[in-house]
Amino acid sequence: MSPSPRPEILQISPYIGGESALAGVNRVVKLSSNEGAFGTPPGARAAYLAAAEDLHRYPDGGATALRRAIGRRFGLDPGRIVCGAGSDDLIYLLCLAYGGPGTELIMTAHGFSVYAIAGAFAGSRVIKTPERDLTADVDAMLAAVSPATRLVFLANPNNPTGSLLPAAEIARLRAGLPEEVLLVLDAAYAEYVDRADYEAGAALVDAAANTVMTRTFSKIFGLGGLRLGWCYAPPAVVDVLNRVRMPFNVNAAVQAAGIAALAEPGWVEQGRAHNTAYRAKLAAVLTEAGIRVWPSEGNFVLADFATETRAVAADGFLRGRGVIVRGMKSYALPHCLRITVGTAEEVAIVGEALAAFMAGDRADHG
Ligand SMILES: *Cc1c(COP(=O)(O)O)cnc(C)c1O
Repeated sequence: MSPSPRPEILQISPYIGGESALAGVNRVVKLSSNEGAFGTPPGARAAYLAAAEDLHRYPDGGATALRRAIGRRFGLDPGRIVCGAGSDDLIYLLCLAYGGPGTELIMTAHGFSVYAIAGAFAGSRVIKTPERDLTADVDAMLAAVSPATRLVFLANPNNPTGSLLPAAEIARLRAGLPEEVLLVLDAAYAEYVDRADYEAGAALVDAAANTVMTRTFSKIFGLGGLRLGWCYAPPAVVDVLNRVRMPFNVNAAVQAAGIAALAEPGWVEQGRAHNTAYRAKLAAVLTEAGIRVWPSEGNFVLADFATETRAVAADGFLRGRGVIVRGMKSYALPHCLRITVGTAEEVAIVGEALAAFMAGDRADHG
C-alpha cells in the first residue's frame, strides 16, 4: 500500500502556464502570460534589491505598510485588505475556507482555470456554466445555483476570453445570488479597462457581507515573478483569511517592491494608454489578415482561427519565428490562441508573423 490523496485530487488537471523558452532560439518574444509590456517598475526593482540587506528578518506578517499603500492608492480601508502570494493564493484560501466536500462552486465555461483547480482541491463540485459569445451569462450562472452553492467566481475582465460584464450585470448577478453565497470578482485586469460602465468590485464589497474583489501585481504592475496579490473583502471574510493564510505568505522583499510599484510615477497610466492603443493595433492587423479577434478589455487578445488544425499550425509558425503565445486547448478553445499585448515592437513582430502565416495558409489551402 502506498499513500493516496483524496480521490478527487487525481481528477485535477495541473495548471499549464505560458511557456518562456524555445529550443535553439536566443531572443524569444514571450506573449504567453499576459505580463505587463514594460517589465518591472524601476523603483520596485531598487526596493527589491535594497531589501536584500535584511533577509535574516521575518517579514511583517500583516503586510501593514503594503496594505496601507494599497488602501491609499485605491481609496480603500486597509483593514479590509488581505495580501497573498499572488491572487492565486487568495483564490485557494477562499475555496478551502468556504468550499469543501458537499458544496458547489460556480464558474463560467471559459473562466480562469485556477478556480477549477482550487475548487476541486477543496473538495467542491465545480460547475461550469455556458457563456454567450464567450461572455459570462448571468442568467445561466443564476440557473446553476443550488442549495449546495457556496462560491461563485468571475474574472472581470475574463482571462482568456477578454470579455467584460458591465457594472449593472455584475449587480444583477449579486442580487440574484443567495446572500450566503460568496461572490468572488477577480479583477486581475482592472487597470487595463477603459470603459465608463466598469466597476472592479469594491462598490459591491462595500454594499454587503458576501462579495470579495481580488487584484494582482502580476499584470500592469509588472511583478508576476514575485507573486503578489490582494483582496478587498468584508470584515468577516478578512477575519477568516487571516486565520487560515500562512503567517508570512508575502515575503519582505515582495512587500517592499509592491509599495514601490504603487509609487512609480505614471506607471499605470502609461501601461493602460499603451495597451489600449496597441491592443487595437494588434486586433486590426489580425482582422485584416483574416483572423477573427474577440473583443478584449485585458492586455491580451483571443485570436480565433476557426479550426484547431489552423490554430496549431499558426502556433507552430510563430514558434518558428521565436514568438510564444498561449494555446487554448486547456480552456476548451482549441481553435484559438491568446496573445499578450507586448511592446510596440513585439506587437509588430507577432502581427507581421501572423499576416505571413495567413497569406501562406491561404495559398496552401485555397
Ligand atoms: C493573471 C491572472 C491572475 C493573477 O494571478 P496571480 O496569482 O496574482 O499572479 C488572477 N486571475 C486572472 C483571471 C488572471 O488572468
